[in-house]
Amino acid sequence: MKDDNKNNFLVNDIYNRLLAAYGPQHWWPAESPFEVMVGAVLTQSTAWTNIEKAITNLKKAHALSPDAIRNMPFSELAELIKPSGYYNVKARKLKSLIYWLDENYSSDIDRMEKADTQKLREALLAVYGIGPETADSILLYALGKPLFVIDAYTKRIFSRIGLTSEENNYNEYQRLFMANLATDPIVFNEYHALIVKHAKEACNKKPVCGRCCLSQICSHSGKI
Ligand code: SF4
Repeated sequence: MKDDNKNNFLVNDIYNRLLAAYGPQHWWPAESPFEVMVGAVLTQSTAWTNIEKAITNLKKAHALSPDAIRNMPFSELAELIKPSGYYNVKARKLKSLIYWLDENYSSDIDRMEKADTQKLREALLAVYGIGPETADSILLYALGKPLFVIDAYTKRIFSRIGLTSEENNYNEYQRLFMANLATDPIVFNEYHALIVKHAKEACNKKPVCGRCCLSQICSHSGKI
């Protein structure tokens, strides 16, 4: 099989195997697009359980809205999101995102959703503290835009399988998925969530290849 055809087959085959093994993941775990945006900033370098605590603090303080975060003193915001770690930096990132949202879309996420996807992505990447993973998480999970999210789990699993090199950059990884899947935000949503699930269930730092649904196609199976 030619490399392009092989990649196309494997990217789709892996999705089907993960979906059969774990079922739908119902991502993103949030009650509103704005909560997704906040979660996408807070989740950088932190376990999700800590983000849940920070989001709960914001909800209890009636502070999970663009207006509340914009008007809140910096120190108060940092205190509320403390469980998410790096809370001073993350408070600054959140404020920057909220100012950007206000300046460009009057804090109206429905208006933001109508903007061109690539222009929106470029604009988000120019906001302090927003890298490609956070930008694409916001675009896909808050706005339903068709962009595949790449994270450290994706790199770990797909380089172990042998489809990619761990040295490849974010854009190269993203191209692998977006060139080989139908442009469908529902599939992109589910696939990334399944990758995270698989990294936690089987392909963690010490992989449990014996109970892995991808072991038949993985070039590292049993070798780590
Ligand atoms: S076989 Fe092992 S290394 Fe390969 S994807 Fe599964 S858990 Fe990861």
